[in-house]
Amino acid sequence: KGERLRLPSWLKTNIPIGKNYHRLKRNLRDLKLHTVCEEARCPNIGECWGGGGEGTATATIMVLGDTCTRGCRFCSVKTARNPPPPDPDEPVNTARAIADWGLDYVVLTSVDRDDLADGGASHFAQTVREIKKSNDSILVECLTPDFRGDMKCVEAVVDSGLDVYAHNVETVEDLQLLVRDPRANYKQSLSILNHVKVYKPDMVTKTSIMLGLGESDEQVMRVLEDLRKLDVDCVTLGQYMQPTKRHIKVKEYVHPDKFAYWEDVGNKLGFAYTASGPLVRSSYKAGEFYLKNLLR
Ligand code: SF4
Ligand code: SF4
Repeated sequence: KGERLRLPSWLKTNIPIGKNYHRLKRNLRDLKLHTVCEEARCPNIGECWGGGGEGTATATIMVLGDTCTRGCRFCSVKTARNPPPPDPDEPVNTARAIADWGLDYVVLTSVDRDDLADGGASHFAQTVREIKKSNDSILVECLTPDFRGDMKCVEAVVDSGLDVYAHNVETVEDLQLLVRDPRANYKQSLSILNHVKVYKPDMVTKTSIMLGLGESDEQVMRVLEDLRKLDVDCVTLGQYMQPTKRHIKVKEYVHPDKFAYWEDVGNKLGFAYTASGPLVRSSYKAGEFYLKNLLR
């Protein structure tokens, strides 16, 4: 008991590096952008940044600082009650940096900012506007916090001109309290995804769940069905990895065949896009799919 599970062979992979990777990496050094890709040491960085050489280079950039007001048990971001205020120049600087960087698809994400009156929604919106102003062919996804269920904040982001609205449910309903900060919950997250579609029916919506936290197949199935009922377009399923000893333990390394099974289930349920695999992350090769299928 208490021992950590051994890492299975399918998670000990070589990281394939695409053509664009080295160029993007070089450019990044001067730009002062914080990418989740680098900070989380994401195993997909070669593929995402490389974009397979087909003009689909993707990266995930953090805005609103590096300190979260919440503490989820799966997440290694640092926590404080009152993080420093957001940098008012960040939207413009981020846009400038992205335009120089040569990305085709950018995911903007953030920590939760319960200390800010609008949870950082206007900062998200302003960043999207600046990015589109400097290069309107770049596609923008926002992976947003729950804004404590404040739909005015959700609408402010939807109205910013983004292409994909993402918000993660993270895990099955029964494990929410164990895994996420108690201020987050399943119903609130679903109501956000629902509100985006009600407010703007042609907005693409997307969510992610982690597997390996002890969930049952029935529980996963219920999440997928709940999401389809709300017309969520895209879902990704990936393996939870314990970031440090202090975080919640991995209960199971889910076999690749099982991930393939969920991809099949997702397709049969009618999601426009289901990505499911041990190394799949919310933004995994996002550009590749969206550029080719959904948005053009
Ligand atoms: Fe991490 Fe997001 Fe939870 Fe904050 S709200 S601890 S950034 S997962
Ligand atoms: Fe970056 Fe997301 Fe791709 Fe990982 S999956 S490299 S975090 S864009």
